[in-house]
Amino acid sequence: MERSKYWMGVDVGGTKMLAALFDQNFKLLVERKEKTNGREGAKAVVNRLQTLIVDTLREAEVSRKQLGGIGVGCPGPVNVNTGVVLAAPNLGWHNLPLRKKLETELGRPVLILNDVDAGTYGEYRFGAGEQARCVLGLFPGTGIGGGCIYEGRIMHGSANSCFEVGHMLVVPGGRLCGCGRHGCLEAHASRLAVAADAVAAVYRGQAPALRELAGTDLSEVRSRTLAKAIIAGDEVVAGIVHRAAYLLGTAAASIVNLIAPDVVVLGGGLVEALEKIYVEEVRRAITEQAMSFLGRPVKIRAAKLGDRAGILGCAALAADAFGGKKRKS
Ligand SMILES: [Zn+2]
Repeated sequence: MERSKYWMGVDVGGTKMLAALFDQNFKLLVERKEKTNGREGAKAVVNRLQTLIVDTLREAEVSRKQLGGIGVGCPGPVNVNTGVVLAAPNLGWHNLPLRKKLETELGRPVLILNDVDAGTYGEYRFGAGEQARCVLGLFPGTGIGGGCIYEGRIMHGSANSCFEVGHMLVVPGGRLCGCGRHGCLEAHASRLAVAADAVAAVYRGQAPALRELAGTDLSEVRSRTLAKAIIAGDEVVAGIVHRAAYLLGTAAASIVNLIAPDVVVLGGGLVEALEKIYVEEVRRAITEQAMSFLGRPVKIRAAKLGDRAGILGCAALAADAFGGKKRKS
């Protein structure tokens, strides 16, 4: 009988990192959280990450030998062959050979993934993706992440992760994006863009409920605050959110025309707080803007796993890569 193995999934975010140990049936055994503190610099973040992994193993009383491998989701594009994180500005990482560093330190195989790819894979295997032939994941938050699982595999380039949905051009000549180009989806429909528009509405005296809840402090305008303001009757804020959700759906409609996903999974902070609006507007945009024979069959689903999509996806992908047996799909 094959000796049982354990798999670890780690999600490295801009503000926190989450590590979890799973058994071979992906039952969660131990989960630990740690602040990221990107301002401390790249090296300090990597050290924290290593400590978190070691502490998680220790808490579970699992030896390194029993660990089959680790999947690490990172907030930026990665080279999937070399395990180099190309850029993660929040963490101060630039061309960081993370796989090499972690494997040297921990002595176990490590898989480096883009966090949205990992989250989409998690939803594909265990959540709203229903193990469909083609799953498109869209995660509007501070930025807008996208991922695609096609016939059981992450769609990526021959070297680098891709599906940068947030940087699809949706408004020619539009707002300046963090990537340096104009008119990207993210510049018009991320939480940051929505919050900035909502604060402008507060300044114009058009959002009295939001004024009460957050004033004009951009950092106070979180997804849940927007939801509360809408419930309290701020119609202008509702309009801003509906427009952003529809714009996300417009980008989704173009993707539907190209690759005909069976399921579109919507996740991230904005969708968790404003699920009904997001599901409705993405549905409407796909109905109105995709070719009808491609748009009609698409299922639109809210993500089911929340924070756990990433760690589950990472652990399952590590098992796929290092488990020694091919998963039937
Ligand atoms: Zn951009």
